Amino acid sequence: METLPTQDLLDGDFSEEDDVHEAAWGRLFPLGSSFVAVDLVKDEYSFGRGENCDIGFNAGKNQQCFQAYSKIHFKLIRKKTSTGTHVFLEDTSSNGTFINGEKVGKGNRQVLGNNDEIALALKKNKAFVYMDLNANEDANIPKEVTNNYTLTKTLGRGACGEVRLAFAKGSCEKFACKIIAKKKFSLGGKNQLNMSSQVMGEVKILKALKHPCIIRIDDVIDTKDYLYIMLELVEGGELFDRVVEAGQFDESTAKLLFYQMLCACKYLHDQGITHRDLKPENILLATENNDTLIKVTDFGLSKFIDAGSIMKTFCGTPTYLAPEILETAGSGAYTKAIDAWSLGVILYICVSGYPPFSDERKDMDLPKQILGGHYSFPKQYWEDISDLVIDLIKKLMTVDPKKRISLSEALNHPWFKDEDMKIKANKLMYPEADGMAPPTMMPGKKRGLEGGEEPPTKRKSSSDTTSPPDSPK
Ligand code: ADP
Ligand code: MG
Repeated sequence: METLPTQDLLDGDFSEEDDVHEAAWGRLFPLGSSFVAVDLVKDEYSFGRGENCDIGFNAGKNQQCFQAYSKIHFKLIRKKTSTGTHVFLEDTSSNGTFINGEKVGKGNRQVLGNNDEIALALKKNKAFVYMDLNANEDANIPKEVTNNYTLTKTLGRGACGEVRLAFAKGSCEKFACKIIAKKKFSLGGKNQLNMSSQVMGEVKILKALKHPCIIRIDDVIDTKDYLYIMLELVEGGELFDRVVEAGQFDESTAKLLFYQMLCACKYLHDQGITHRDLKPENILLATENNDTLIKVTDFGLSKFIDAGSIMKTFCGTPTYLAPEILETAGSGAYTKAIDAWSLGVILYICVSGYPPFSDERKDMDLPKQILGGHYSFPKQYWEDISDLVIDLIKKLMTVDPKKRISLSEALNHPWFKDEDMKIKANKLMYPEADGMAPPTMMPGKKRGLEGGEEPPTKRKSSSDTTSPPDSPK
């Protein structure tokens, strides 16, 4: 076992910190349940399952990964170099230490930067996120937020702005913090003040929603220019990436996931809320496993954004956009049936691995394909897929919204006559109740939110890299 270096903290390396107290230069936030937060003060730290390590992993003794850790798994070394003071991670493990998913490798050193993620033994076994306390990138985050939360790395980006990994001060409980610039809110001629109170009103309603497949809103901090929304953290990534990775889902996986999407969106509809922006980027997965709980995100606030800019809708890829929205260029009256259409497109993609409409079609542009409902189920890609799922897709992707099936009708479709799947889904959704759904709350309490005057659904820009695969392989 190596002995720890006894560094003098007041030597040359720390000249910029002439504080009498040991000032922390960095902080590690725990990502896995068996790790704890660490304030980094000394020049060097060792991490591992050995008893002489500065930071031991013994709290996770009973966890599967524990045996895969080395006695000294890695070290953090803060050093002055010709290019300034840097923090190095030295991998001393047999099974590997990963920075942002890249293996450092035994005997190698790599510079550790602000918000880098450290994983141990397995790429997926995330342990810490590193915060450089001198990076000062967050100087602009208001006190109202930093008093209670520390914001770290970016989890994702969307039309509203950024979503960052946040830790509650003290408890280190993890959240996803969605940051929305208030200047993005606009509603026709209404003034900004009016706007803010409307947005806050809507947030209050969203906060009261309660469904296992709907992202929970834990806290909302209203500051001068930004809204900080603390969301339940979902760690399995986006449905979009999962489909791309899998190529396509087998029917039983697709059914389990899609059933939950329908349950979640039906719940929203029952509360009088239309999602408006259903797409695989807005469906998050709870775990790495495909038999997983899903969480629908990014609902409700979209109607406040980009009121006038219909053009954006057309510039963005309208893959999931219902024909009636395109028809009226977003200015017409539409109903919650738009969600049923988008869900149909999502189901099409889940089972086939490619979108029903394509930019690459020579004879017809995208809007025309959507407006006419020109999609098909070519035998070469669909022959192993059941007629039932094709029938459900057709009923959801029916051009006339009046003839399109509702989400409760979809839930009663013969494809879902599958008790085993429902038992599995209910166990995922209601684990405490052993798969028993609680009685529905306040049935039929409509808020009448979907109206004709609303702006079109926001889209991502056309340069977005996250559009689904254009054609099947
Ligand atoms: P936007 O309105 O900006 O599109 P989203 O809520 O869709 O906001 O978030 C954008 C991205 O951030 C998502 O696609 C996802 O990758 C990530 N994200 C959002 N919410 C969460 C969450 N609760 N947990 C983990 N990641 C999230
Ligand atoms: Mg989104």
